[in-house]
Amino acid sequence: MEGGEPHGLRSQKTDPGRGPDAVIEDIGRMVTAATQDVLGKESGVKNKVLGAGIGCPGSIDRSTGVVRTTPNLGWIDYPIRSRVTSLLDLPTVLDNDANCATYAEWWQGSGKGAEHLIGITLGTGIGGGMMLRGKIVRGASGSVGEVGHMTIDYNGRLCSCGNRGCLEAYASGSSIALRAIEGIRSGSKSILTELVDGDLDHISSALIFEALKLGDEYAHEIITETAKLLGIGIANLINTLNPDVIVVVGGVVGAGDYLFQAIRSEAQTRTFRSAFQRCDIVPGQFPLTAGIIGAAGIFISELTDS
Ligand SMILES: [Zn+2]
Repeated sequence: MEGGEPHGLRSQKTDPGRGPDAVIEDIGRMVTAATQDVLGKESGVKNKVLGAGIGCPGSIDRSTGVVRTTPNLGWIDYPIRSRVTSLLDLPTVLDNDANCATYAEWWQGSGKGAEHLIGITLGTGIGGGMMLRGKIVRGASGSVGEVGHMTIDYNGRLCSCGNRGCLEAYASGSSIALRAIEGIRSGSKSILTELVDGDLDHISSALIFEALKLGDEYAHEIITETAKLLGIGIANLINTLNPDVIVVVGGVVGAGDYLFQAIRSEAQTRTFRSAFQRCDIVPGQFPLTAGIIGAAGIFISELTDS
């Protein structure tokens, strides 16, 4: 199956305070504008577009097209699929955004064609997805891939899910920044303090990667610890699931080769040798667009399956 190249793109920051209906109307306007870029203003979207794929964060009920909960947006039991379907007047499929990103990397990205692939999305939180022989593995209640909430320290940091010691509480973009801020407040010296003019709340994971490239010792320490924690999480996945590829997607990929070498090295010390040797741990090919490409890919795959 070919395809997967974006022809028109639009993006916009989501303002959760405006409520889901307003966000969906924005999405409708962006879809119309992006398709008109390709097809021309006069062309009816309905006549030229097969349908729409939606990638949405949170817990999804695919059979009803309802978002059960989205912790970061605050939506509860919102019928997103029917809203988008009626707005665009097109057939629509809905999936979790991490499943979409994983599908994109299997379909056209770093894990193209892998038999058993795990995707890990590192952003504000940590998500994931799993594919076996071209199919997304979903599990009994559809929550396969919540790799961010595997416990790596039973007594550890409090996670947004309420549990303690989840991988996400250490290695998501926001947790990396938080750990760095806490360390500086406790006396660690870093160029980060100057980069934000002393306003530590402005430290982000992207800025820590910049500080790392500038040779900052403290940024090096934070990223090394992050790689160790990610390596532990990835080792758990390799030992239990024996994948041939693990693709890491998202802004954290901006840390570059150093992060991946350290992740691989940690994972190697904690895995069965044969399983580690058979598993490529690679950065994603679509750090910004994997979710979009994957949502379209899942729509096409369901069209051809039916
Ligand atoms: Zn958690």
